[in-house]
Amino acid sequence: MRAEGSQDERDVTFLLAGKRGVCRGVRRALDLARETRRRHPDRRILLVGELVHNPGVNRDLREAGIEIAPDPWAGGAPPGPDDVVILPAFGVPLPLLARLEKAGSLRVDATCGSVTAVFRRVERHVREGRTVLLHGKPGHPEARAAVSRVRPEEGGRYVIVRDRGEAEVLGDAIRGRLSREEFGRRFAGACSPGLDPHRDLGRIGMANQTTMAARESLAVQSLVRAALADRYGAEEAESRLAVFDTICRATQERQDALREILREPVDLVLVVGGHSSSNTANLARIASERVSAYHVEDAGGILSAEEIRHRVPSGEIRITRGWLPPGPVTIGVTAGASTPEGDVREVMDRIRTLARAR
Ligand code: SF4
Repeated sequence: MRAEGSQDERDVTFLLAGKRGVCRGVRRALDLARETRRRHPDRRILLVGELVHNPGVNRDLREAGIEIAPDPWAGGAPPGPDDVVILPAFGVPLPLLARLEKAGSLRVDATCGSVTAVFRRVERHVREGRTVLLHGKPGHPEARAAVSRVRPEEGGRYVIVRDRGEAEVLGDAIRGRLSREEFGRRFAGACSPGLDPHRDLGRIGMANQTTMAARESLAVQSLVRAALADRYGAEEAESRLAVFDTICRATQERQDALREILREPVDLVLVVGGHSSSNTANLARIASERVSAYHVEDAGGILSAEEIRHRVPSGEIRITRGWLPPGPVTIGVTAGASTPEGDVREVMDRIRTLARAR
């Protein structure tokens, strides 16, 4: 953790998280994308969805002539042998990968090694005959890519649980207290089509989307273990639940560094990063449990000393008035794993300017 402030700026002191911003996996993905553009100046380059969840980064890639196509077969010409296709840091679902192989395009794989580790873990759970429980966000590209490794079309089963609230509902299903219909309703779009809660929740293998909050993950794990213990007895529950923590190191380090800041007397915390970035949103959620926290995409979110545009934990984008308290203020600052350091500096510069003008 590092404090920044000076006599001239005595109204604002920043406490910067020691670990923040761009991680190794994101840096590698960016290097690969730039290198691909350099090596193939005349070929069409398609990127399957966003490389990382940062609007500035994706804008730069578009400006470099890289087309961002969540579904390369929707819209423009389909990918062919003359095209280059970049797979994002989150990985892509297996059926999409198979279609790309068939299309014969040159593939550049920017999938992060930590994400690949999740895929391997999911596959192992399936081989062991377990239903995969993924602690993650059902619509997130990494979660979709991970559960595709379950191969539901071949009988694999999965359920995605977002938080401890959903883990409690899953616990009810494990205890046999939830009807099939209610389970289907509660986990619509978050479980494999053929999953039968009365048949398939007796042997579970848990993994995490890499960017989830570690404490939430532990809570999910204990709720599921408790439900299995109620149903089968404590001893048997141990063999019925296999857990592997697949939260990546970069996510963990950023959460730990933020907790260090939260031990200090900060007035508020700013979390800088894309509003669709899962790890950034989790940092904001952790901070908001202790102090006023604002998740801004970049300096553009600091509308004035009075107003700030930010994402709240429910996902809503909101404009809040009166965010910057009068008088001397200490602001904790962190940034998600896809946020360039320049964005953090711009946010701080903007606040300094506004504070001087007050
Ligand atoms: S946040 Fe973790 S999983 Fe995602 S790119 Fe960075 S290191 Fe890889």
